[in-house]
Order: sequence, then C-alpha cells, then structure tokens
Amino acid sequence: MAKTHLTKFHATHHLLKTKNYKLKTNMIPFVDPKLHYKRLRKQILNKIDDTLGRGDLILRSQLAQFEKHIAKLVGTKYAIGVNSGYDALHMAVQAAGLGPNDEVITVAHTFVASISAIANHGATPILIDVGQDYNMNMDLLEATITPKTKAIMPVHLNGRICDMDRLMDIAKKHNLVVIEDAAQALGAKFKNKMAGSFGLAGCFSFYPFKMLGACGDAGIVTTNDPEVARKITLLRYNGEDRVARKFVYHGYTALLDNVQAAILDLKLKYFTKWISRRREIAKIYQKGLANVGDLQLPHWPDKRYFDVYQNYVIRTKRRDVLVKYLGKNGVEIIISWPEPIYQHQVLQPNNYRLSETEAICREVVSLPMNTEISQNQVRNIIKYIREFFSKSRGTE
Ligand SMILES: *Cc1c(COP(=O)(O)O)cnc(C)c1O
Repeated sequence: MAKTHLTKFHATHHLLKTKNYKLKTNMIPFVDPKLHYKRLRKQILNKIDDTLGRGDLILRSQLAQFEKHIAKLVGTKYAIGVNSGYDALHMAVQAAGLGPNDEVITVAHTFVASISAIANHGATPILIDVGQDYNMNMDLLEATITPKTKAIMPVHLNGRICDMDRLMDIAKKHNLVVIEDAAQALGAKFKNKMAGSFGLAGCFSFYPFKMLGACGDAGIVTTNDPEVARKITLLRYNGEDRVARKFVYHGYTALLDNVQAAILDLKLKYFTKWISRRREIAKIYQKGLANVGDLQLPHWPDKRYFDVYQNYVIRTKRRDVLVKYLGKNGVEIIISWPEPIYQHQVLQPNNYRLSETEAICREVVSLPMNTEISQNQVRNIIKYIREFFSKSRGTE
C-alpha cells in the first residue's frame, strides 16, 4: 500500500523534472526526510545500535514499550503494533468478524487502503460522500444503512476527526461496529477524546510521511476490547498462541519490527511539540491566505475539534493553474486525490456519482506541511499564492 504513496511523492519530483522546471536551490519540498533525519540522526543511530546490540530483533521490550505509550496517548487499554496502516485496518476488519455478505460504510474520499481492507475480506465497501471538511457527511449516513450493514469505517482525514457524536449515535442505534481509519489523525481530538478511541478499533499508520513516521512501513491498532486485542496479537504473528504453542488462526507475518518500534518510541517524545508546530504553520497559512481569491482554507470554527494538520489542504476552482504556478516557483505539492476511488475499474465499484468527492478531486491541493519547513518557506509559499491570484485577477 505504502508503495502507492511513495510513487506519488516521486511522481511529483518526476513532474518537476519532465516539465523542465529548474530544480532551484530554493525549491520547497513537500516533505524533507533528509533534514528530518539529520536533526535526529545521533539519537536514532544510538537507538538502533542499542537495540541491535542487545539482539532485540522481534517482539521485544522496545515494541511493548512503544505499544504502552501509544495506548496511553490515545487513551485505550491496548495497542498492537503491526506492519503498516493497511495491516492495522485489515486485521481490525478481520477481528471484528466482517466478511462476505456484510456491508461496511466508508467514504469515497480516502486512501485506497481503507477500501481494500474491507474488500480483501469479501465484505462490500459502501462509499458515501464527504462534507465541506473532507470527512464523512453524517447527513448521508443513516439512509445508507441496509439490513446487511454491519460496520462503519469513518476516516479521519488530514488530521481532523469526523463528527463522532453523530456517528456513534447512529452506530449505537443500528448496532453497528465502528472501525476508525485514524491513519492521518494521531493526536487529533473531538471533545477532548482522541482519534482511535471511539470505535471498536482505531487504526494508525506510521508510514514515513505520516505525523509520526517510521523509517519504513509500520502501523498500530488501538482498542479497549480484550478479544480484539488478543485476536490481532495472534493474527499478526502467524496465528500462533505462543504460550500454548497452538496455531489458532491462519495468521500473517505482520509484526511491527522491534527496531522500528524503538525508533518510533524515540520520536514519540517529540510528538506533542510536532503537533504544536503543525498547528502554528496552519495558523500562518490561515493568516496569509485569508480572503485570497476563491480559496477555501481548512479551518472550520468549532471548538469541539482539535485538528493536527496531517495535511494542509486548500481548495480553489483554479487548482490546476495554481499548481502549475507553484511548480514553476519550485513549490512541491500533492493532490490527494486527482480521481475518485470508484473510477478505478479494478476495484469493481458500483456506479457512484458523489458530487462533493468529485468536486474535491478537481479543486484541492495539499501545501507543504511538516516539522522541517521554515517560517520563511511558508511565507514564500503564501507570497506565490497571493501573487498568483492577484496577477490573474479578472483575466478569465
Ligand atoms: C496512510 C493511510 C493508510 C495506510 O497506511 P499505510 O501505513 O501506508 O499502509 C490508510 N488510510 C489512510 C487514510 C491513510 O492516509
């Protein structure tokens, strides 16, 4: 799954090159993994050396420690480290007992992994539209429920939680399981409650460019349910009950690597600071881009939400020309996503026409948002965007 992301990042570089945009020295990258590493290099190398020096390769104390810390942060009883965000979703869907003949409602505006995790168990993903804040439109949820509906998978996109008051009410009323795709929302809160602590299970990704990023693929499932925790703990490691030495499931080789866990645990110490920094950058963007052209910014005044800005997504009818302009000025951006997921035929979609999802595909662009970017770089991005809208005012 993560390969897709990586390809996307590289595709942006590729675009810059093929269009003969000069890779200027003052180029502003979408993410800066080299600088991220440089700043933590000594600590990371020490951590790796310590872990390998002890021979702690698989399922050791470093993993247990990290799981304990994530459970504490999210506010759940358990956290089970796995291979990737996709694997977290995959095993959560399995532990919830979802399969053929079950419908699972989720959104069309999400990364493919949410939908694949449902489809790969033979269950049917039912896709609904999102609202102005890019998250599940709760006005549409209840009408989508059929006798076959067994679960809802809200996706907390871009570091903002869905309206969990309304979602949990509907889930309770219809006796539906809730599995949160919280891959983009570690640390995000709704009424002071953390993403990943509302449903039966919360699924997180530590893909390198998520807010808490590993040095490769990694993920975790959070839950308060001892049975879900037990099942995923066994599934992720060959389905074996290692105390009784019995195989109790057809499982997977999907542990969160111990060395990765050690590195993640180290980075976790900075996580609160990183969130503050992201919120600071979001404020600078908000101030600098207020009332510019037809721009819609990702700020919705509602005190119940604490957003962590995994992505800073802006929206304009003139997205494609703006993207070109930013490219010429060396600003690397990402479009998530240029095409509705249901238009990919291999996924065997129904004939969906979701108007908000489709408009979003035409109109959104994610600006650089990371803890490495400098104040100056953010100011320059704002300058270019303002320039674009003032230069082209009335020329259409
Ligand atoms: C990143 C992501 C995933 C998958 O995580 P991986 O670790 O890349 O497998 C799932 N859902 C959403 C919304 C994501 O952003």
